[in-house]
Amino acid sequence: MSGIDTLPPLREVIAAHGLSARKSLGQNFLLDLNLTAKIARSAGDLTGCDVLEIGPGPGGLTRGLLAEGARRVVAVEKDARCLPALAEIAAAYPGRLEVLNADALDLDWAAHLQPPVKIVANLPYNVGTELLVRWLTPPVWPPLWDSLTLMFQREVADRIVARPGGKAYGRLAVLAQWRCDARVVMGLPPEAFTPPPKVSSAVVHLTALPQPRYPADPDVLQRVVAKAFNQRRKMLRAALKGLVPDIEARILAAGLTPTDRAEQVPIEGFCALARQIAAG
Ligand code: SAM
Repeated sequence: MSGIDTLPPLREVIAAHGLSARKSLGQNFLLDLNLTAKIARSAGDLTGCDVLEIGPGPGGLTRGLLAEGARRVVAVEKDARCLPALAEIAAAYPGRLEVLNADALDLDWAAHLQPPVKIVANLPYNVGTELLVRWLTPPVWPPLWDSLTLMFQREVADRIVARPGGKAYGRLAVLAQWRCDARVVMGLPPEAFTPPPKVSSAVVHLTALPQPRYPADPDVLQRVVAKAFNQRRKMLRAALKGLVPDIEARILAAGLTPTDRAEQVPIEGFCALARQIAAG
């Protein structure tokens, strides 16, 4: 299924419902339906899938997801001003759009979805990283979702897909790539949005692996990585001091060098260190 719907253009929707963008809610809208359809397609085949969308706003991406054949879209929007515009979309796609007027950070979204689930969103920048980390760190793996297709500021997208040794490599890269394949699928200039943000954006597509690349306890790995990258450019033994009493021995037992910097350590190395620490 593919195509643009017959609902009014988004500029008319915004004018009709008085949806002036609010900076406090990270509102930079996508009004080009060809572009929102392209983002929806970059999530892969949506037919037969439930899609969770965070922050539908006036519904440009929502319309793309429905037109591209999503079985159902569950759209979570904090700004009640957007609800009438979203109700018009729901009426055009009977039984396929559920709108929840809620803060995505407070919501038990899993209760509203049936697998297979894809998460697709032009995220509010102020909550994007927090939501990503939550989606990447559920108590069990594989997670309820099969893939994440998410818009970020370009700099955050680069951090998610970064490789060891580069400036952007850090906690986000390790958490994302430990259990997912992650790639940037589209870049967008500020002018693609209304109003334009100050920086460029990019869409990242993450596919959940059936199991993590290397064994490690998720909580221990998260603690190690958070501490290792807390102060950049520090040697591992200094950065991880205090994590466990004999950290230098654990670093060596994991096959790492205490004078290495976190930026140089591959995901495999952090997992080996997490296993050494978890072994007690
Ligand atoms: N998806 C629309 C688009 O592409 O044009 C809007 C994207 S805009 C960048 C972010 C949207 O997220 C806004 O509609 C905003 O109201 C909503 N939002 C901001 N914080 C939120 C939160 N904590 N929970 C749910 N929605 C939120």
